Amino acid sequence: MSVTLTPKIRVESLSYSYRRRGSEDVQALDELNLTVGKGEFVSVVGPSGCGKSTLLRVLAGLQRPTGGSAGVLREDGARPLMAPVFQEYSIFPWRTVEDNVRLGLDAAKVPRAESNARVREWISRVGLTGFEKAYPSHLSGGMKQRVALARAFVLEPEVLLMDEPFAALDAQLRKVLQEELLGICQERDYTVFFVTHNLDEAILLSDRIALMTARPGRVEEVYDVPFGHPRTPDLRKSPEFVALEEQIWDRLRGEVQGGRK
Ligand code: ADP
Ligand code: MG
Repeated sequence: MSVTLTPKIRVESLSYSYRRRGSEDVQALDELNLTVGKGEFVSVVGPSGCGKSTLLRVLAGLQRPTGGSAGVLREDGARPLMAPVFQEYSIFPWRTVEDNVRLGLDAAKVPRAESNARVREWISRVGLTGFEKAYPSHLSGGMKQRVALARAFVLEPEVLLMDEPFAALDAQLRKVLQEELLGICQERDYTVFFVTHNLDEAILLSDRIALMTARPGRVEEVYDVPFGHPRTPDLRKSPEFVALEEQIWDRLRGEVQGGRK
């Protein structure tokens, strides 16, 4: 399936080492290859510390490869190219909820009347109506993460880069936002690069799942998720879903244990 897609994200022989003064370099990624097609949802799973966040930050342009390349192809000049959602809450404490969500729209010079409507819509979709004027210090961790999600979604970028965006949320809200994300991707074409360590979430949301080795991270295996769209969470009950989860977990367990040696 993926073979017929136009590549949107292309990672070739990507290596990344953290240079640390006075001690050895930490090689996080080693000759990693991965292609994500236009409109595809690809999840990356792998043991803790294998370089998933590093890969995402390189794609976001925040860290420069120490070897190889990582590129995201721009096609639609009218749409922002990328919006990242990080693992840790990355919202500004001195701005209200609505001003945090509005941030990228202001930067893109979207007129106020339009940005007001979009900000309102997304605040409501992530369940924060009533908290528009609140400051982050008055929000729980999960609420801050919802602000970060709304700030990315409101931009409707070509590519969403998401690093364990639901990890800090309680189980119910996590499910609600997984469904919301499924819906968003079915409404409009997004290319999504999604880091998670939750296999259930990866299978429910993805077209393909890349399994990384323990550090230094490489792509060990890419799994096709055999379900089309639209999807509903009922998929979880299907035997193919359960079998794929077991298959991936068998390999992931090996990496987690190998990585501890
Ligand atoms: P993951 O997201 O898969 O848990 P990371 O990409 O955060 O992994 O980290 C990969 C490896 O790089 C880990 O061993 C981590 O300790 C190391 N690392 C991450 N950030 C830094 C840094 N700023 N300096 C040195 N080492 C780092
Ligand atoms: Mg990480």
